[in-house]
Amino acid sequence: MPQIAPLTTLPFAKWGLGFSRPLVIAGPCSAESRDQVLATARGIVQHAPQVKAFRAGVWKPRTQPGHFEGSGNVALNWLKAVREETGLYTVVEVATAEHVDACLKAGIDMLWIGARTTPNPFSVQEIADALRGVDIPVFVKNPINPDLHLWIGALERLGRAGLTRLAAIHRGFNWFERTAYRNSPMWEFPIRLKARFPELELVCDPSHISGTTEHIGSLAQQALDLNFSGLMIESHRDPTTALSDAQQQLTPERLGEVVSALIVREQHAAIESDRLQELRDLIDQLDEEIAQKMGSRMDIAERIGEWKADHNVVIPQPERWARIMTRQLRLAKELGLSAAFVEGVDERHP
Ligand code: PEP
Ligand code: MN
Repeated sequence: MPQIAPLTTLPFAKWGLGFSRPLVIAGPCSAESRDQVLATARGIVQHAPQVKAFRAGVWKPRTQPGHFEGSGNVALNWLKAVREETGLYTVVEVATAEHVDACLKAGIDMLWIGARTTPNPFSVQEIADALRGVDIPVFVKNPINPDLHLWIGALERLGRAGLTRLAAIHRGFNWFERTAYRNSPMWEFPIRLKARFPELELVCDPSHISGTTEHIGSLAQQALDLNFSGLMIESHRDPTTALSDAQQQLTPERLGEVVSALIVREQHAAIESDRLQELRDLIDQLDEEIAQKMGSRMDIAERIGEWKADHNVVIPQPERWARIMTRQLRLAKELGLSAAFVEGVDERHP
């Protein structure tokens, strides 16, 4: 492993922007027009006064071509107008050095790196180089795929460029197993990130996890219960006409209701108990994952049983069973688990 300087990040309280837990960021997926941006910002100020920062995508990284790719540089003027009129801080997604320069020139307050950019070390390095010597807050979304190292690597690249007002945004992961969400929350990843960097502020983006408006409130609450320090929620004055992510955007009115319904529990006073809670949360999340995996394994085992019955093959296959056990016992040894434990798990799920 290469030796790199430890990541130093400041808590929200030291960002000098008056942020406290929970920091709520809201705004449309995309800045579509001056009217849409300003009407949304006014609605947010009116209905969700807890919101401190206004987000909007100016350059949109679309998975496939042919979709709305953002309004580009002109939209930065609309955000400037939001800042002047409402006092909300502005935050924009950047993916290239040109985006960074344009945002800095336009006086955008904060930046975020999107889930499709975080996993690309060339892009992240380009952004970090463009930010060297600039003291601006940057939020780093998790990579679209569940890889903690890429997430950490992106934060470290920015840290090495001298940035300290850094935070991570958890927006869920693209996962091949079908879940109730657009992006699987896999909470153990942000929890592990926090365990590794206890000072790092964690923000949850329930909009991109949910993919619809349905789960936004419950995901936001779950994030706060897991000790996240902030939320980024998509809001559009008229989601039905949105040019991107129409399904998951809340009207400012609804946003106000969702945010007001959140219960913010006190953080534990003692650092030790925070740490204990984090570890317990980690265990709970892993247990949930294990249960889900066991369920998936059971489903597949049942399908194998059915296939064997249809094809007149006897169900127990002793050689295969012996192979599985040998592999599992080897794995158990490598992981420091007892053989009895692994045998017990596998016996319950033949
Ligand atoms: C967004 O915030 O609108 C966006 C594109 O998000 P993500 O990078 O998380 O997909
Ligand atoms: Mn979006």
